[in-house]
Amino acid sequence: MSIETPERRDALAVDADLGREDRPEEACGVFGVYAPGEDVARLTYFGLHALQHRGQESAGIAVGDGDTVTVTKNLGLVSKVFRESDLDSLTGGVGLGHTRYSTTGSSTSWENAQPHLSAIGHQVIALAHNGNLVNTSQLRDSLKDNGVRFRSTTDSEVIATLIGHFTQKHNHIRSGIRETMELIRGAYAVVLITEDAVYAFRDPHGIRPLVIGELPQGGWVVSSETCGLDIIGARHLRDLEPGEMVKISADGLEAEQAVPAEKASLCMFEFIYFARPDSIMRDCTIYEARRRMGASLAASAPAEADLVIGVPDSGVPAAVGYAQVSGIPFGEGLVKNRYVGRTFISPTQSIRQQGIRLKLNPLRHAIEGKRLVVVDDSIVRGNTSRKLVELLREAGATEVHMRITSPPVRWPCFYGIDTDSQEQLIASALSVEEVGERIGVDSLAYLALEDMVAATGCEADQFCLACFDGDYPIDIPEAVRRGKLSLESCG
Ligand code: SF4
Repeated sequence: MSIETPERRDALAVDADLGREDRPEEACGVFGVYAPGEDVARLTYFGLHALQHRGQESAGIAVGDGDTVTVTKNLGLVSKVFRESDLDSLTGGVGLGHTRYSTTGSSTSWENAQPHLSAIGHQVIALAHNGNLVNTSQLRDSLKDNGVRFRSTTDSEVIATLIGHFTQKHNHIRSGIRETMELIRGAYAVVLITEDAVYAFRDPHGIRPLVIGELPQGGWVVSSETCGLDIIGARHLRDLEPGEMVKISADGLEAEQAVPAEKASLCMFEFIYFARPDSIMRDCTIYEARRRMGASLAASAPAEADLVIGVPDSGVPAAVGYAQVSGIPFGEGLVKNRYVGRTFISPTQSIRQQGIRLKLNPLRHAIEGKRLVVVDDSIVRGNTSRKLVELLREAGATEVHMRITSPPVRWPCFYGIDTDSQEQLIASALSVEEVGERIGVDSLAYLALEDMVAATGCEADQFCLACFDGDYPIDIPEAVRRGKLSLESCG
């Protein structure tokens, strides 16, 4: 038997949308732990706290107790969804957690919160997914004639349903996962639990991140980022490789190359914006990569200014790097309101009109009378950048020189990042000078693609760079391209 807890969902059903930013948004954090004898619900809870930045619309924890799998999930932040009593009731030896930002399905639907529960015969499984499939509707259409039934259009349910179908066919979960991986196309980092085991697998391009760690008291952890390991004292062992599947159970950790790896294509936006600065990807600390991006910008796009400030959070390490190379002092100029996040309380119209002030407040005493270099990670539609520049000028900045630690975003994402359609991307049709005029800066410069890649310490062929160069590592079916690539000929 499994128990779900829908209480409070009606009260949370109004997404005030205060936090929906004018920038790409991540599509989820996933976390799994195998640690019989430990309080896996609390380990998962703290793991999810570390991954909160990857999704703030809903959170869920599932626990396997040797007999079945139980899940508690709801809309809202991790701290809001779980009470002490929820965690006390989730007892067992394996845990699974998820924080969600929706790219498919409604953001206000409790049913779309994960982990997703399903049954394979009499066995209950829970599944959590980060990413986005590009062939979901093709799969549904071609498989429903074979007796596969789908209850929703979310790609996470499609993955769970396929695994259930093929597991029954082979009478073996790993074979079921393997056959599912051979069929699904797109970006996926998936963690799945049964009553007594954790399974994790990653798409053949490795677009979304997934790492493995080891608990000092015994047991293993998988997490979207290493910060999810650090918070519970787990030691980072390695990344899951593209196309790899691991099973963690009483037999230990068993790894296999489930499907052949294809061209490595880790999402570059992990380095620019999504990942927490204290996480490590490809042996590089995200903070250090961002600092080097800023340093590189100072060399390629100098400015006459009195103060360098970063737009919190991802712009701050880059601003430090810019200041180090330029010799212009670094200072705090903007304070982030960390807790407004995804609120489910409707703001009044007058509060809504405060716009960016809900998120950022300028330090007038630091800014007034100064020529500023403002370092940010990206410009998507340009609305937030324009309002930010207005805010800084109102606070007394005499000049604003915007420096961006990525190239212009000209192409939409199909792999689980919620960017706009191409026509809404300000750089898809405007030159750098025109973008600068539109957002009202005194000067604007972007980091060159090769300098951005160099700051990571990796080669360009390790990354997906499609939102900058339009070179998508996984073919996008025509029906999916349509709509989002409306300006394709302008690319
Ligand atoms: S298209 Fe851009 S946001 Fe999407 S996976 Fe590639 S680099 Fe990341």
